[in-house]
Amino acid sequence: MSEAPLLEDTDRTSGRTALRKNIAAAMALSGAVRSTLGPKGLDKLLLDDEGRTLVTNDGVTVLETARVEHPVARMLIDASSAQDRTARDGTTSAVVIAAELLRNAWHLVVEGVHPSTIVRGYRRAEIEALTILDGLAIEGTDHDLVTAVRSSLAGKASTAVQARLAVLAMEAALAVEREVDGKMDVDPTRISTIMAVGRPATESEVVNGLVLAKRLANPSMAKVVNNGRIVLVDGGLERRGVRSDVSFQATTPEVLNALRRRENERLMEEVAHLSSLGTNVLAVSGAIDDEVHRALMDAGIQAFRRVPASDLDLLALATGARVVLRADQAAAADVGHAIESRSHLIGDLHHWTVRGEGVAATFIARGSSDHVVEETSRCFDDAVGVAAQVRLDRRVLVGGGAAHVALARHLRRRAEATPGREQLAMEAYADALESIPRALAENAGLDPIDALLDVTAAQADGGADAHRIGLDLSDGTPKDLGAIGVLEPLSVVRPTIHGATEAACAVLRIDDVLWARLEAQIPDDIQAQLDAMGERDAEA
Ligand code: ADP
Ligand code: MG
Repeated sequence: MSEAPLLEDTDRTSGRTALRKNIAAAMALSGAVRSTLGPKGLDKLLLDDEGRTLVTNDGVTVLETARVEHPVARMLIDASSAQDRTARDGTTSAVVIAAELLRNAWHLVVEGVHPSTIVRGYRRAEIEALTILDGLAIEGTDHDLVTAVRSSLAGKASTAVQARLAVLAMEAALAVEREVDGKMDVDPTRISTIMAVGRPATESEVVNGLVLAKRLANPSMAKVVNNGRIVLVDGGLERRGVRSDVSFQATTPEVLNALRRRENERLMEEVAHLSSLGTNVLAVSGAIDDEVHRALMDAGIQAFRRVPASDLDLLALATGARVVLRADQAAAADVGHAIESRSHLIGDLHHWTVRGEGVAATFIARGSSDHVVEETSRCFDDAVGVAAQVRLDRRVLVGGGAAHVALARHLRRRAEATPGREQLAMEAYADALESIPRALAENAGLDPIDALLDVTAAQADGGADAHRIGLDLSDGTPKDLGAIGVLEPLSVVRPTIHGATEAACAVLRIDDVLWARLEAQIPDDIQAQLDAMGERDAEA
């Protein structure tokens, strides 16, 4: 079915035609991202209205960037976006499986199976599939978890960068891990990123604490403060200027000087207030007047100005401080604790690193150019998303389609025990899961049919570890892919299967409504009455 123009065709149609068109739309959409799947997947070059380009290998990015109007295609795109939000990976797989579920459903419809029977069979298959999947998963070692994070970057960066970023992502996830209400929590928003152009991407690093691209308000201030008492002000330490638009009759030098003195005094009072709170680190979002620097230094306060409000929020998380609007409004409870506050150079740029008890980490993204640094940062974000998942749920599966083939085999066996036409739907479901190993093989330039046959045969003689056997894409032979480092978090694979089933069933059900209307039979006697009523209306 290569009817791409159908993506534009949103005319209302009904019954079988609607289903056929909807499925064609799903297939066209899946066709657009299928070739990006896996480590040998191709990159897509996306072009926007302004002629900007983006090269990506990420299914969800392709889909979200494409302007697709077709409602069914949108449902699949939404499934992919949902996958991105919950698992940060597996977005292409979700779409590929959903489209394949629909294509197989179409074959059954042609053979006379009703869509609602297929939906029932698919739902049943999903429950079985997820149970089987849980059984195939193993509790990953620390090494396995890093491997799973690295696998998730397959095709997105060089292998050296993948390996480095996987380690760093786990480090960062660990750094922001904490207990909230008795539950483990890994919050990736507590990880900030600094872009540093210069050294290679493999020299990127993760720093415990918060690193901001900020220099001291005055170079003579203390570079390092240990055991800091930190105050955060979303405002400034500056004189309020005399506004010239205010009509001010008495602008004699005496009056202006008096005003200036008064403002200076106010600022000195603010510094004295900070000092009385024991403050020795200060961050303000506004400016700090030159006159105030001396006073701050005399009070032993290390100060940073023009710190964006969003960074003040991160500093608050890291140190337990509360942001205040004016320095003299700070109370003892607003003061945070910085284990260390250090001003230093990264490359030749000034940075400020703050370590507090509130967890925070900073990723320093490196690369030879802006472009590479941004790429590194994007990959790291994906990696952290997956790292956060595996910190919370350590169960992993063997990737590369190995688990999918095993799942399909188990499912077919269970289908045999399922009576009626739902059995056909369960078999179609099993076939759809195999679209993953098929697409991976195809993208690696291998024959997808032979590949699947080889893996299935190898798994059949594989004994207890059969589910680990998949196709090594570099040489086309079946082997234990876990042993060569192809692992996936269960928490990524599970939602791809659930999301794909949801999306496919939703599409099948749309048609179900129309289908029912098409086939509704009105008994002859009632039809006669209706006709009679119609005639009376026409006469009136
Ligand atoms: P998705 O958007 O679905 O995550 P990817 O392009 O990231 O799509 O591809 C993910 C698939 O690639 C998974 O099935 C994963 O197991 C597989 N994969 C990753 N690395 C390898 C590898 N080295 N060999 C075979 N398959 C791999
Ligand atoms: Mg992926």
